[in-house]
Amino acid sequence: MTKLDQKKISNLTKKIECGDRWALSQAITFSESTRVDHREYTKNILTNLKKYSGKSLKIGLTGAPGVGKSTFIESFGLELIKTGKKVAVLAIDPSSSNSGGSILGDKTRMEFLSREANAFIRPSPNDGTLGGVGKRTREAISLCEAAGYEIIIVETVGVGQSESTVSEITDVFCLLIAPAAGDELQGVKRGIMELSDLILINKADGALLQLAKLTSSDYKNAINLFRHREYDPPNFPKVFTISSKENLGITAVWNEIEILIKWRQTKGFFSELRNRQKISTFKRELKNYFEQTIGSSDPILTQIKMFEKKITSNEITPETAAELLIQKIFVSD
Ligand code: GDP
Repeated sequence: MTKLDQKKISNLTKKIECGDRWALSQAITFSESTRVDHREYTKNILTNLKKYSGKSLKIGLTGAPGVGKSTFIESFGLELIKTGKKVAVLAIDPSSSNSGGSILGDKTRMEFLSREANAFIRPSPNDGTLGGVGKRTREAISLCEAAGYEIIIVETVGVGQSESTVSEITDVFCLLIAPAAGDELQGVKRGIMELSDLILINKADGALLQLAKLTSSDYKNAINLFRHREYDPPNFPKVFTISSKENLGITAVWNEIEILIKWRQTKGFFSELRNRQKISTFKRELKNYFEQTIGSSDPILTQIKMFEKKITSNEITPETAAELLIQKIFVSD
């Protein structure tokens, strides 16, 4: 392995602590790389910056393409910046796994927010590996925390598996919905709704206002059927209409987030939820690690093939085969 440049590590660490955006970008680029030396740089920098971990409030935002996520983040981010906060936006880009096309990069997004000195916007690529979204985004979050961004918005396009991973690395989870007729709730998966703290019906303006109100009551009815979560204040999750374009209801979003966070902090749920997230991250990483280890070990793959033959010829049940293989793996050393 190439020798690590310790000076580079300490320079980047110091610059990130001072809020240098170039250094932050550079460190995030290292964290996204699969090169062994880059992974080592990332590990070292993150270790140096560990003391900043957990300082920021992390907000997850999901919604189908076109519902107005970037317009919302632009209004919301500018609102936060007005109150003196530093805001980072990490947009998980599901299409960038092979550096080919990018849904998020194709258009000018968050034009005004991106010009603000106190804003940092960065697409976070999905590297296509199991758990890749979570790990890389978590590292980018830690780097942004160290650079002094008090609010970190993690945006994901609501089309894949990434929502539950994002809800695992954020403190508040918001679902953005566009007004739509019919009571089918736009095919939004129940699971995503159950993860949400705020369901925001966007585009509640002009000709869409009435429809937005109807959509809002559809969602209110839907979440009333869900079981109340012990870590929520009595009237949460909340559903309400906003207009990102007209800047209506955007302050209310922040007010509701503050109410929710304060309540959870007072009741002790805030840190409990973060601890639960850390444990589930640990378990998922462990599972990924096992899968990768097993998948890259020739002797184990040979054993798997052998067991598969025995299973299909009815010599052994799949359950017993799994048990025997695990015993072999752990007893072999
Ligand atoms: P994203 O794909 O979810 O990021 O959506 P965009 O923010 O790019 O918005 C998609 C389209 O919806 C754009 O044409 C926006 O101008 C429009 N849009 C976003 N928010 C609003 C809103 O509050 N009201 C109206 N009328 N249009 C909006």
